[in-house]
Amino acid sequence: QAADRPRPLHTALDSVFERVRALTDGEVASYIPELAREDPDQLGIALASVRGTTHEMGDSAAEFTIQSVSKPFVFALALEQLGLAAVSTHVGLEPSGEPFNAISLEEASGRPLNPMINAGAIVTTSLITGNTADEKFDVISAGLAAFAGRDLAVDEAVFESEAATGDRNRALAYLARSAGTLASTAEVATRAYFRQCAMRVNARDLAIMAATLAAGGVNPITRQRVVSESVARWTSAVMTSCGMYDASGEWLVRVGLPAKSGVGGGIVALQPERFGIGTFSPRLNDRGNSVRGVAMLEELSERFGLHMLEHR
Ligand code: GLN
Repeated sequence: QAADRPRPLHTALDSVFERVRALTDGEVASYIPELAREDPDQLGIALASVRGTTHEMGDSAAEFTIQSVSKPFVFALALEQLGLAAVSTHVGLEPSGEPFNAISLEEASGRPLNPMINAGAIVTTSLITGNTADEKFDVISAGLAAFAGRDLAVDEAVFESEAATGDRNRALAYLARSAGTLASTAEVATRAYFRQCAMRVNARDLAIMAATLAAGGVNPITRQRVVSESVARWTSAVMTSCGMYDASGEWLVRVGLPAKSGVGGGIVALQPERFGIGTFSPRLNDRGNSVRGVAMLEELSERFGLHMLEHR
């Protein structure tokens, strides 16, 4: 089994891990009040190869809420159900260069710019099958479970906390609704979206979810096909252009891997046909991306030539 492991990465994780532990800048997200209770010092990383081997360090089993890391996976589920053409009439594929909660709709089409910012993610959630929020969420929950290879629970306290304070997201949903791009009522879409964001994962789950995309849509642990190869490719492409919000361009230069961050402190990244990585550390930079997660991925990419445009 050991022979299967992505060796150089595996042996290097230790030193990278210890170096980023020293970073203590950034703040835990607090605009969702319940998230402020998270222990800021947690640090975990997990790597899953497309052949099904995993390697984990630190708090890789500690659970946190998935938040925006859910967005590419729900986008993949919508693509799988409806196809790229239909999804594209509701949400665009262009980087916004704006923060995750920007009030961003294209003027002519009423579409949010992309599915990785909140406006686009809420529209994406509205496209998922089901008439009620609970029906939509059940489909999302089953889909994310297939990506992770295990059932994922909802953190009810974080859900309630965001539902009680998420008026900006509600405003985004009402705007999209009035522009004709939201496929459900604003209340149905935001309730399902808040539950989706409150799903509990650990770094290992994120690594396996990313590895499923890296493997062209097949979960490398359960061997289940979750989405088609083209859906996995389209999803990875949008993560490449839009996954790190207004830091996406710099990320593409420095790290060069499709990725997605969330305000719970998680980041997923992947290299197609090789591996998925999940990182967890709750302190965020001013773009809402995990400080230590970004640092680990930058260093791993640099040291091991993981950039997808690396000359091989
Ligand atoms: N649930 C969060 C929100 O909508 C997710 C944002 C994020 O992780 N960037 O604000």
